[in-house]
Amino acid sequence: MGNSIRLFSVKGIDIKVHITFPLILVWSAVQFGLLSGRGLEGAIFGVVVTLILFVIVVLHELGHSIAALRYGVPVKQIVLLPIGGVAQLSRMPEKPIEEFVIAIAGPLVNFGLAIVLAVLAVVLGLEIGIGNMPLTFSRLARASLQSVFAYVFISNLFLGLFNLIPAFPMDGGRVFRSLLATRINYARATRIAVTVGQGIAWLMALWGLLGGGLFIIVIAVFILIGASQEGQLVQLKSLFDGLKVEQAFSRGVKSLTPNSTLREAVEITLSTFQSDFPVCEDDQLVGLLTQSRLIDSLNRLSPETFVGQVMEVDVSPVEPKDGLFQVQQRLAELSLDALPVVDQGIFLGLITSRDLNEAYRLLSKRPDLLAGLT
Ligand SMILES: [Zn+2]
Repeated sequence: MGNSIRLFSVKGIDIKVHITFPLILVWSAVQFGLLSGRGLEGAIFGVVVTLILFVIVVLHELGHSIAALRYGVPVKQIVLLPIGGVAQLSRMPEKPIEEFVIAIAGPLVNFGLAIVLAVLAVVLGLEIGIGNMPLTFSRLARASLQSVFAYVFISNLFLGLFNLIPAFPMDGGRVFRSLLATRINYARATRIAVTVGQGIAWLMALWGLLGGGLFIIVIAVFILIGASQEGQLVQLKSLFDGLKVEQAFSRGVKSLTPNSTLREAVEITLSTFQSDFPVCEDDQLVGLLTQSRLIDSLNRLSPETFVGQVMEVDVSPVEPKDGLFQVQQRLAELSLDALPVVDQGIFLGLITSRDLNEAYRLLSKRPDLLAGLT
């Protein structure tokens, strides 16, 4: 995720904060300052509890991450956004039980913290109990240890429970899917979990419209988007399952040399189907000129510029036996349109997002279509 600043790292996992994060601090200062009618005191309270909340979100994400690492699933990074955190795993866990443990580890951290806070409150003689409800905004927004404690305690319970709503992209969606997947196949389990999640989202939207408020509607939209993304991802995974690069990549592509000009690349693009170019020097692959890199370069530079000056050089090629789904994930991750295909040092061709789209469109009509192809 771009526009993030690295704060520190835990167990080799970078914890990053999105640059929009200061906005939420300003927002909470304004909200608590004005809404509570406590002015500066409320504003200070708002900033303090928001910072604590984000520490809690980091701990929640670390819960997922440490569970993932236990199953050998590498964690790329944890990014804190104004709406919460994301722990980015580098792949999906293999077994349903692994996904279950990884998904539930986050909410369990919140419940664990809530218990610790409750015990501490008893020891310190603070009232944080649900017995004190309703905890009104103005009672809460006091810059006292007691109100900070109460707020953090309730937020922990809320975060744990909220994340267990059985709808993607919430943890509960994954928990639900993994439980289903112990009995039926993964793609079907996902379809059911996606449908249930969408049902919940529509009910929430209705509730929001009938007076539940804007916040509920926003969450409902968030769930609808998350659910359909998860559904598409898993459909893609099941369609591409078992398929290899060699079944879909483009052969016979024209290559350029570092001394070719951008104008030559444009000419080939216009006269053929090809839009991404391997750059070779004495039969050795030295770089890649993708269409987006070409267009971007033409915006800034003259058409006589050498390809060698603008090509991507840091491109690790894929092999014919690599899985199509993994390659699709890599293209998306690197924001590339094409990757070179190389077998034992010999350049064979390109696998492009167009190849993948074609394979996807054909396979969604006829899943058996590529089965015999190599
Ligand atoms: Zn979570």
